[in-house]
Amino acid sequence: VYFHDMELDDRILKAIAMLGWEKPTVIQETAIPMALEGKDLLIKARTGQGKTASFLIPVIQKVLTHKKTAIETESIAIILCPSRELCKQTMTVIGQLTRKCSQVVKCIDISPDVEIAIQKPLLTNKPEIIVSTPSKLLKHLTAETITLSTIQYVVIDEADLVFSFGYQNDIEELIKYLPQFYQAILASATLSQDVKDLKKLVLHNPVILKL
Ligand code: AMP
Repeated sequence: VYFHDMELDDRILKAIAMLGWEKPTVIQETAIPMALEGKDLLIKARTGQGKTASFLIPVIQKVLTHKKTAIETESIAIILCPSRELCKQTMTVIGQLTRKCSQVVKCIDISPDVEIAIQKPLLTNKPEIIVSTPSKLLKHLTAETITLSTIQYVVIDEADLVFSFGYQNDIEELIKYLPQFYQAILASATLSQDVKDLKKLVLHNPVILKL
């Protein structure tokens, strides 16, 4: 299987080619088509297996499909990571994968230690993709500087760390702000009981990919 076989937008394929990735990794080969079909996924994989791109490529594809014009704008995806450093790394990969469509797909990392009031103006143009830690997103939700009413895709990366870093209550709280229907992807290095609890809370009939 090649990326070209996956019905991805040309701009994504070009960005992938620029990264020098010749073929999808095993996890990408399985996860990308399933995510594009709209399935909820629980991905068990260690870092280094191409996990990040396995959920970012479908999210970016969905944003491009969703957006009919370059100006029309709505936040449609949230990506939750357990630390600011991981948010930053995720943003870097989003930047790499959207370099041919950066005018169309806007994304923001709200996790840095900057006051909500200062970040608020950055959110008025509704970036399609929001990257955050659970606690920072919850702060924005409580302050009503972000709404999740238009969100269609939710990714929780490093779900096992989400628990060990004590974000469990934040996740439970922010799920209440999500619309009734959304697609969710959980990625985790382990499938601990905590992750299984989170799975029940966030995923609906997920496909479980163990790699
Ligand atoms: P991750 O598992 O997301 O931490 O990715 C590990 C590394 O693999 C990163 O440096 C990616 O740039 C790289 N990578 C991801 N997908 C591919 C691919 N299909 N081919 C080659 N390298 C890749």
